[in-house]
Amino acid sequence: LSPVPSDIEISRSQTPKAIDLLAREVGLLPDEIEAYGRSKAKVQLSLLDRLKEQPDGKYVLVAGITPTPLGEGKSTVTIGLAQALTAHLKLNSFACLRQPSQGPTFGVKGGAAGGGYAQVIPMEEFNLHLTGDIHAITAANNLVAAAIDARVLHEATQSDKPCSHTCGAGREKLVNFSLLSPLQRLGIEKTDPDTLSAEEIHSFVRLNIDPSKITWQRVVDTNDRFLRKITIGQAATEKGHARQAQFDIAVASEIMAILALTDGLQDMKERFGRMVVASSRTGQPVTAQDLGVSGALAVLMKDAIKPTLMQTLEGTPVFVHGGPFANIAHGNSSVLADKLALKLVGEEGFVVTEAGFGADIGMEKFFNIKCRTSGLRPNVVVLVATIRALKMHGGGPSVTSRRPLFSRCFLPQNLRLVADGCCNLEKQIQIARLFGISVVVALNVFRTDTEAEIDLVCQIAKDRGASDAVACRHWSLGGRGCVELAEAVRRAARQPDRFRFLYDLQMPIVEKIRTIAQKVYGADDIEVSPEAQHQIDYYNEQGFSNLPICMAKTHLSLSHLPHWKGVPTGFLLPIRDVRASIGAGFIYPLVGTMSTMPGLPTRPCFYDIDLDPDTEQITGLF
Ligand code: ADP
Repeated sequence: LSPVPSDIEISRSQTPKAIDLLAREVGLLPDEIEAYGRSKAKVQLSLLDRLKEQPDGKYVLVAGITPTPLGEGKSTVTIGLAQALTAHLKLNSFACLRQPSQGPTFGVKGGAAGGGYAQVIPMEEFNLHLTGDIHAITAANNLVAAAIDARVLHEATQSDKPCSHTCGAGREKLVNFSLLSPLQRLGIEKTDPDTLSAEEIHSFVRLNIDPSKITWQRVVDTNDRFLRKITIGQAATEKGHARQAQFDIAVASEIMAILALTDGLQDMKERFGRMVVASSRTGQPVTAQDLGVSGALAVLMKDAIKPTLMQTLEGTPVFVHGGPFANIAHGNSSVLADKLALKLVGEEGFVVTEAGFGADIGMEKFFNIKCRTSGLRPNVVVLVATIRALKMHGGGPSVTSRRPLFSRCFLPQNLRLVADGCCNLEKQIQIARLFGISVVVALNVFRTDTEAEIDLVCQIAKDRGASDAVACRHWSLGGRGCVELAEAVRRAARQPDRFRFLYDLQMPIVEKIRTIAQKVYGADDIEVSPEAQHQIDYYNEQGFSNLPICMAKTHLSLSHLPHWKGVPTGFLLPIRDVRASIGAGFIYPLVGTMSTMPGLPTRPCFYDIDLDPDTEQITGLF
């Protein structure tokens, strides 16, 4: 329709096919799905075993140029491309998407089910509770937080007795925790058989947690800025153990990062056990396993580990699973969903998956972290660009709101701004090429873009390293508007595999950071603060130096400064601090300040969201 109706109106105008029918169509057996209502189902991981001899399909990553705060359409392209591959090229295909956080849905960006005629439906179910995975993560995360503070309190109140509340009389002496190596303490290396098993350790050991070195935070899935710094434990029952703490948004929890990287229940449980949550007073890492909580976490997460099957407006299958923060975590949907989908589509089929933020962040982490963990190798990168973002990189103003007043400055044709802004597109193409993968540029066309602007971008992209560049109109036309992109992707997927990682894991931590800063962001060098160096030395000592790097940097610039658009040069990238997610398996350097709890704007999306009590229909979601 023209004009294109609102996302929720489009979503509601289509009746999704029953989920058991969709499951049958994609080759799932009846006992391999667990239906959650009419239009969603969890898929059993046993499927991987049943299809283990089946060759994988082609693997396509959708990434983007440095975006405006509104996003340039990676999700819509992912969905539109999958729709075009299935409905128009008659190829099996799957889209794999992240589950959105409630924060942006009610905050500034809105939902993440795509938009226009390239959506996952029912979009309100996708954007809100889905099958409860984020709620499970919140519950699991906060159980760890409760366990830490309770342990500190109980150990303190028991300190004058011969053993702690968890000990049998005198048992504390059986294991001298400080004699175990860091790897033994994390369960990575087996303990001496003469000592207690790793499972028993937590029961007999006084952890001596240093309250000032607790790194685990509580989480909630709401943009609640007033929880950025709080005081907890103020009741008299907590006997003076008040301390300053903070809440993060739920998707920033390490448990979410683990969900997105794990390959099964056993691995997930082991990763939970390895999560470092605090330091002891002697400087030793304290883990979730030390707290005795990892088994309970696995119980809370046993359903969340199964990807959720949904469908697009055109009935194309979609897996929604995982949604880690794209700065302090890796920002990609789950390894398990991609693996299941690659088996289901078969050798000739396509799986289209999406990496958060710009290619310098989401795609770099997709390759260096997610692909390393999964062992999967993508065949093609689709790089999404918009004229509005290119104009911003060419020196135009940055769009900050969906409302017409703010976006009016983008309307008139301006070939000079567009051409100048293509420097950012060229740089992001080069970054993808560093990994040896073919790049197809998808120009996501907005109603206000002119033919001259569109032709200019496609020509520049092809001249500067893309194997193809096409205009996409999936937002206004659905899969039909993405057929040319689907054909370009099919051609690019036939090219030989030349994939390579950017760095070796054995390189020193500082060298890995420098490689990303120079080769990906274009920095002259890095500037490591004394605090960051101290942490790097500590992680080297603890035996964590071989982990990949997950840079926590703004997505609004290739540099560390959000207002530096285009391709900044001649800068030193400041490494303010370095932290680690040992369970997820990466080190994350903090570049500048990084908020893990977003705030609400003056005019948040929730103003427009409402419910009709008679029909139960939702309005205002987009
Ligand atoms: P990303 O995944 O890159 O963050 P999305 O695909 O979520 O971006 O798109 C961001 C928003 O912009 C969504 O609300 C979407 O509906 C809207 N949008 C995307 N493409 C278009 C387009 N071509 N015309 C109008 N709105 C669009």
